Amino acid sequence: MKATTPAAGTTGRPTEQDWAAAVDAVRSGLRPGARVLLVCHVNPDGDALGSMLGFAQGLRRLGVTSLQCTFPGPLTVPEPLHMPAMDLLIPESEADPAPDLLVTFDAASESRLGALVDRLETATVSLVLDHHASNTGFGKVSLVDPFAAATSVVAAELLRRLDVPLDRDMAECLYIALVTDTGSFKFDLTTPEVHELAARLVATGIDVGAISRRIFDSRPFGAVRLFGEVMGRAQLEPASAGGRGLVYAVATLADLAKHDQPPYVLEALIDSVRCVAEADVALLLKQVAPTEWAVSMRSKGGADVSLIAVAMGGGGHRLAAGFTGHGNAEEIIDAVRDRLAAQS
Ligand code: AMP
Ligand code: MN
Ligand code: MN
Repeated sequence: MKATTPAAGTTGRPTEQDWAAAVDAVRSGLRPGARVLLVCHVNPDGDALGSMLGFAQGLRRLGVTSLQCTFPGPLTVPEPLHMPAMDLLIPESEADPAPDLLVTFDAASESRLGALVDRLETATVSLVLDHHASNTGFGKVSLVDPFAAATSVVAAELLRRLDVPLDRDMAECLYIALVTDTGSFKFDLTTPEVHELAARLVATGIDVGAISRRIFDSRPFGAVRLFGEVMGRAQLEPASAGGRGLVYAVATLADLAKHDQPPYVLEALIDSVRCVAEADVALLLKQVAPTEWAVSMRSKGGADVSLIAVAMGGGGHRLAAGFTGHGNAEEIIDAVRDRLAAQS
């Protein structure tokens, strides 16, 4: 992980100049024969995939014919996140080594692009679309709006400025991105603009009920039992986080194996942990290798968990952030507890 402090310039909203530069960058990819590569962050979530695939369809409408979408790591998309235009996805090994235009989605730092990070150098023009306040400012041309609820809000506005009309498949991708990053329009950045965008997307005829059921309200029985087991071991520390309370849970590879579940089912588990009323901060450790953990943190407002995530080599938002932890679970929990105490 490169920078450890949020770069200046990610604290404000994009200016008209920033939007104009982004429009120019995209237009450079509209020349006949131009090769365009879109990349979203590793282990993509709904916003990463949805903003990328929604934007990709917009570029197709604008006449781009040589168009690739990818992300670092194995080319697998969890079933709940299946969406239109996935035929555009190619394995990272097939990604153009030197595209005319590169656009990144929802990546707050270069490390989130894995081995594809070299395209920032080899691409003729590169554009970063993001909404993390912790964005390290790695893009030459970038639209980073820390007040946007999702990267798809930024992507949709850029498509609007490019005069791309929304269609149903494009809207489904952008909606999935919006609905996942806002927690179904419940989180703090759910502004009137978010609802206005949602209205434009829903007006294309997408099936919001089916999308919500698939993403939020459907999981295998084994995953339900797994959640119960992990939550049964959750610990509450009312005195931690400066007396505002910390709750944490740990899901191991053994838990996954016991219930025969793939790792992605755990993405939803933080929502159960963060419900605990007695705690401002919720912490979930998901084991990915014997001494490696995907760590999710949530705050109700008392703590800024993005500062802790960035200090631990990750990133995110004030109220939702994460990092990759190394060592045993207790060591990682101790480190987070200490940093929370230092913050309060
Ligand atoms: P999650 O807890 O995985 O839902 O992620 C919450 C937020 O933290 C998202 O905005 C992610 O982009 C960010 N995040 C999670 N894990 C990492 C990581 N390893 N590095 C950087 N940012 C992360
Ligand atoms: Mn994301
Ligand atoms: Mn996002």
